[in-house]
Amino acid sequence: MSVHVVGHSSPDTDSVASAIAYAHYIKCTTGADAVACAQSATLNPETTLVLKKFGLATPAVLTDAEGKDVALVDFSDIAQAPANIGKANIVAIVDHHKIGDITTNGPIFFYAQPVGCTCTVLHEMYTTSKVELPKNIAGAMLAAILSDTVNFKSPTCTPADKTAVAALKGVSGVSDTDGLFMDMLKAKSAVDGVPIKDLLFRDYKDFDMGGKKVGIGQLELATLDQVAPMRADLYKAISDLKADGRHSVLFMLTDVVKEGTDLLVASDEPALIEKAFNGKISGQSMWIDGMMSRKKQTVPPLQKAFGA
Ligand code: MG
Ligand code: MG
Ligand code: MG
Repeated sequence: MSVHVVGHSSPDTDSVASAIAYAHYIKCTTGADAVACAQSATLNPETTLVLKKFGLATPAVLTDAEGKDVALVDFSDIAQAPANIGKANIVAIVDHHKIGDITTNGPIFFYAQPVGCTCTVLHEMYTTSKVELPKNIAGAMLAAILSDTVNFKSPTCTPADKTAVAALKGVSGVSDTDGLFMDMLKAKSAVDGVPIKDLLFRDYKDFDMGGKKVGIGQLELATLDQVAPMRADLYKAISDLKADGRHSVLFMLTDVVKEGTDLLVASDEPALIEKAFNGKISGQSMWIDGMMSRKKQTVPPLQKAFGA
């Protein structure tokens, strides 16, 4: 029986590249048949670009794991697994997240490292086992590491990720990793023709801040120019959302290259938002240098300002 290698739901580039890389590894090291899978037939624009660029086939679709031999990559949470994961035979897990809630009936191969990307873990496995890495798979792994570490800028990036990329550059023949990252970023952040509502909710969360409802959305961009033509529409959508029972709605237009965020603000108390970030709203927004992460840099100062 084939081993189905599958990453988490809402597949990203790492979960897809890891599935491809680990399926190949299983074939080479055990001789067993292994098939790379994703939980969706529709992959995001960044992943689609990466597969095309390196000439890799789109993974098979696996949405129900019942009765199958499965290997999991880039997750170990039931909530992110295919349906009926409890009725599957899990044979291996390779990951770089906190350990989730998946359990197994027998001993399995379980390997995780606190690094920036599952493909970094897999690269180490290839190196240790002296398994030859095909050029196209190396390219996808390199792209996955750039994606997960935001071109090494994420606080999750480790020296091991940089070492893996240096090695993978040689195998894949990719010399310009910054160029590859920009191409991926442009694909991922494409906004042309996307309905405003979709942009608003692409990455949006509501928070309770001291009893007040505060919404925070984020768009990662290669340049703020990408949204220049739709700023007014975007601001109107944010204002409408605030009018629908919220104290504030903040929208992070994050320039990944300049490493900062233009923060659109619609609020009952703009002065409170200004105080939180020690800035001044000019028109409808304020530029905050260095702001990249909602979780680490936007939410905490707001919670403090709201006394939450
Ligand atoms: Mg992932
Ligand atoms: Mg990952
Ligand atoms: Mg990710």
